[in-house]
Amino acid sequence: MDQRIIDRIEAVVGRDGYSTKTADLYTYGFDASIFHKTPDMVVLPRTTEQVSEIMKIASAEKIPVVPRGAGTGLCGSAVPIKGGIVMSMQRMNKIVKVSVGDLWVDVEAGCVYDDLNRELEKYGFFFPPSPGSAEACQIGGMVANNASGMRAVKYGATRDFVMGMTFVKADGEIVRCGTRTIKDASGYQLARLLCGSEGTLGVITEVTLKMTTKPKKSAYCLVAFNDVEDAGRCISAIIAKPLIPASCELMDSISISAVNQALGNPLPDSRAIIIVEVDGETDEVIDRDLGVVAEVAEEQGAISITPSRDKKQIALWTAARKSVMTSLSALKPGFSSVSLADDMGVPISKVPVAVKRFQDIAAKYKVTIATYGHASDGNLHTKMLLNPLDKDEWDRGVAAVNEIFDVCIELGGTVTGEHGVGISKAPNFQKERASELSSIVAIKKAMDPDNILNPGKLQEWEGSILKNLRYPCKEYM
Ligand SMILES: Cc1cc2nc3c(=O)[nH]c(=O)nc-3n(C[C@H](O)[C@H](O)[C@H](O)COP(=O)(O)OP(=O)(O)OC[C@H]3O[C@@H](n4cnc5c(N)ncnc54)[C@H](O)[C@@H]3O)c2cc1C
Repeated sequence: MDQRIIDRIEAVVGRDGYSTKTADLYTYGFDASIFHKTPDMVVLPRTTEQVSEIMKIASAEKIPVVPRGAGTGLCGSAVPIKGGIVMSMQRMNKIVKVSVGDLWVDVEAGCVYDDLNRELEKYGFFFPPSPGSAEACQIGGMVANNASGMRAVKYGATRDFVMGMTFVKADGEIVRCGTRTIKDASGYQLARLLCGSEGTLGVITEVTLKMTTKPKKSAYCLVAFNDVEDAGRCISAIIAKPLIPASCELMDSISISAVNQALGNPLPDSRAIIIVEVDGETDEVIDRDLGVVAEVAEEQGAISITPSRDKKQIALWTAARKSVMTSLSALKPGFSSVSLADDMGVPISKVPVAVKRFQDIAAKYKVTIATYGHASDGNLHTKMLLNPLDKDEWDRGVAAVNEIFDVCIELGGTVTGEHGVGISKAPNFQKERASELSSIVAIKKAMDPDNILNPGKLQEWEGSILKNLRYPCKEYM
């Protein structure tokens, strides 16, 4: 980076507000995806005004800027593929105001999800999306990805809680959009547009989130099956009852084997399980709903049904589910679990057929795919085990992924339920959203005419996704 530009940026954020050290640059070139690219500078602003001044400099000098939360994204959306500045929001982490009587909280973009909920819990409220990365991911990253998690089926995704926000446009203009009212019908909903924009339309600096009350009681039920399709059908049947669970996680046999091998058999040895959570205000509600789950599970051919209110048991099941991704890498020496087609959504009733077709595709391309996820909202995750040094493995993996996404689109689903598009979903996102693409391109052009913010992603990605891989596979680094 040109010293003249470094000096101008130092004048805005101070000496401790940026870095050009090799180790820092290397580190900020990663997120939790399969990609890596080293930026030219990392900037760590403390205020919206500093973000605005940095954007004015970047805009005038035509330097790419990639906003960054905690870097837990799984699709490469925070990887600076065109170099330039990574704008880390980690120092803007304050909870600005909790307005209990108005049902909102104002929070800076760099606040970590779990930190926000620890504060809201003091008032009996919470912000429910519950992503698996809750202890690290930031509110700005969640909004920019429209993240969600296991409670989305009952409570909704991040977007459903965003009332307003402050963001900075590529040219440095500070925009406050939305309201602090529960209802808002005034014109275009800019705050909604920023949800899922993945750092391409503005740097989000502060968000107004709606809060909701936390139910007083909850309980879980682990149900095992001989067949993953039965498990999928059971989820749809529970919802059709009607019973909307607080969460319902599905794991197939590969996920179960991986976790049992890594963690010493916390789960029943079976072809599939679902872990259903019910919540409510009274024990009577919980008993009733656990009864409904057991009744439906029996009708759908469950081989075991284990309800539990025991905190230790529930913590064990939850930890088992959360460890699928890491446990998989231990399943086969020399192989790693990689995020290729890691996240997709299908209509809830299509979960059984989707899972079956993913298994057929895995067999066709001779790859190991574990399927699990927040299946009660139709959101599935497929982690692939492959040897990341082998070009042929990557090629077969991507061919399998493309077919998996074709199945999702054919079933009326989407190539990403919650992890976003970034790089790894970009070609299939473009396929899925073909009829929206010209509008998406026009919106980007209107808000960022010089293409400063997170360039080259989503609708702009071209060609194969096998570039800039973090693994030493010489053909694709
Ligand atoms: C173990 C694990 C489990 C996960 N489980 C889930 C899950 O259950 N549900 C889920 O939805 N996701 C999950 N994820 C993915 C990821 O954690 C989420 O998408 C999360 O919202 C990303 O937040 P982050 O702060 O890490 O953002 P980053 O990864 O840093 O960035 C993500 C995107 O947001 C943009 N961005 C970040 N901050 C801002 C800002 N202030 N302004 C504008 N743009 C910004 C970036 O440019 C990038 O495009 C998981 C990841 C891991 C590693």
